[in-house]
Amino acid sequence: MNARPIFAFNPGPITGDGNWTWLIPGRLPTLIDAGTGERAHLDEVDKVLAGTQLGQVLVTHGHVDHASGAPALRDRFGVTRFLKLPWSERDATWPVDWTPITDGDVIAAGETHLVAIHTPGHSPDHLCFWHEESRTVFCGDLAIKGTSVWIPARLGGNLAAYLASLERIIALNPARLLPAHGPVIDEPARVLRGYIDHRVEREEQVIAALRAGDRTPEAIVARVYRGLKESLVPLAQESVMAHLLKLEQEGRATRAQDAWIMMDA
Ligand SMILES: [Zn+2]
Repeated sequence: MNARPIFAFNPGPITGDGNWTWLIPGRLPTLIDAGTGERAHLDEVDKVLAGTQLGQVLVTHGHVDHASGAPALRDRFGVTRFLKLPWSERDATWPVDWTPITDGDVIAAGETHLVAIHTPGHSPDHLCFWHEESRTVFCGDLAIKGTSVWIPARLGGNLAAYLASLERIIALNPARLLPAHGPVIDEPARVLRGYIDHRVEREEQVIAALRAGDRTPEAIVARVYRGLKESLVPLAQESVMAHLLKLEQEGRATRAQDAWIMMDA
């Protein structure tokens, strides 16, 4: 499988340098992720298609930088097959005809086929696409080399689900991950295991902060992330909230109004 990276030309505060989309050429030219409809992205897709007809677009999840380019792709290339796992509140935001797919679906792409793997956590609808012959995972936002992945608790993010998704991909023993942000990941197990270790360590810090008397994400961030740049504080609070909700799900922490405590405190 010869997947070609195509830059989406959408740099920004959340996307960093911008997104990568992936085109699998062949009998059924397939684009993985839609980008944001930037003219330069569409031109680049056109160039890589080299006169062939774009057959379908697989979308890893409904976040704006992965899904919002769908109407522009339809208008430019006449493509009408857009596939993703449904996320009802979100999908109507991007007005194309979405074909629902789910965990375990086998999807023809290029000259080969991919298997959809439901990997919630970063978002509830997140899919990875697994190509077994080459042991390649199109991993969307499951992993970004050199940085941790945002788990927006208030927008359907779920840390426990994310950790389970990481384990699920590790269990496939992939040779490489083709992400939507940053470089290709050639040592998937090491990188994904690193994420899990990082979250375990962070959870221990959050528990220690609760035991020390911190009651809010704000207080915990001030203790755990010392010297954090002001602009990053909201993201850190969101991340701490993801940990608190995981502890709550597990029956280890609870809250009265907005004051968090450990159950065994
Ligand atoms: Zn995302």
